[in-house]
Amino acid sequence: QAKDEGKGRFKFYSTDMTQRQERRLELESALRAAIEARAFDVHYQPKQTLRGGAIAGFEALVRWHHPNLGHIPPIDFIPLAEELGLITQIDLFVLEKACAVGVECLERGHPVTMAVNLSSLDLKNPDLPTLVAGILTQTGLPAEMLVLEITESFAMEVGQGQSNILQHLTALGISLAIDDFGTGYSSLSYLKALPVNSVKIDRSFVRDIGNDARDTMLVSTIVGLAHSLNLKVVAEGVEDNQQKDLLHHHLCDEAQGYLVARPMPADQIFGFLDQAALNLAQQAG
Ligand code: C2E
Ligand code: MG
Ligand code: MG
Ligand code: MG
Repeated sequence: QAKDEGKGRFKFYSTDMTQRQERRLELESALRAAIEARAFDVHYQPKQTLRGGAIAGFEALVRWHHPNLGHIPPIDFIPLAEELGLITQIDLFVLEKACAVGVECLERGHPVTMAVNLSSLDLKNPDLPTLVAGILTQTGLPAEMLVLEITESFAMEVGQGQSNILQHLTALGISLAIDDFGTGYSSLSYLKALPVNSVKIDRSFVRDIGNDARDTMLVSTIVGLAHSLNLKVVAEGVEDNQQKDLLHHHLCDEAQGYLVARPMPADQIFGFLDQAALNLAQQAG
């Protein structure tokens, strides 16, 4: 009987494997088709300054809604796109959209920055600076208004040597932000080696800032370190007013998170910015 059970389990296991492989193949061909058709959306999440309360900028986040597979979150397809060597096409698509939206904000009287996430694979492509410069020219976004977010793990990888690609990008006037800051470990020497302008404190530190004295201490230490290096500090994942007040108290510069707003489609940005400006003016008296 035990033998039968074992056999049954094996059969179940292998079916499970096949299903996973089928699902992956399905996702893979859907992803290739979506890239071909430029079938992604971009949502934008604002960052608010903690001192004045103004909206300083937005982060562009890719969205994929497949007609049959439904909504597929970035964590499910970004790693696949990286594996298949397709991530740069997605990131350049997002960049192009974000730059165009940034120009529209500017034209409507809201000079906000636009941040775009880069994969470590993008930064191994020597053509990247030329491609990014081309998108800036084509859309008309001033380079000063573009921020590129790179993850801390990648920064640590390249920070030891020098990264010509990053140097070329910043030579254009673009800013660099270290995303998910604090999740890497040991070496901070890349901060000295790379032309970085800001760090984004990872959500995992912000989450318990009100309840965990060590997290509060870490955030306050990160802010002090960053400021001593002339870096701006953005906190990610700010969900309530207690977190926001504590971050303000510990001199963090900007907050991003559901408390300020969830990522929104481009057509809601302008209404959001107008409303935010109105609120500020009313507060001022
Ligand atoms: P990230 O760059 O650290 O982006 C922040 C993520 O946290 C976003 O998830 C955002 O929706 C979510 N978030 C923002 N505020 C809050 C909050 O208050 N609470 C909680 N619980 N979550 C919050 P999303 O859009 O699912 O993106 C996940 C990750 O996927 C991003 O992390 C980024 O690493 C990657 N990603 C997203 N878009 C792109 C893209 O266009 N290119 C590349 N290469 N990566 C992207
Ligand atoms: Mg990011
Ligand atoms: Mg982040
Ligand atoms: Mg993150």
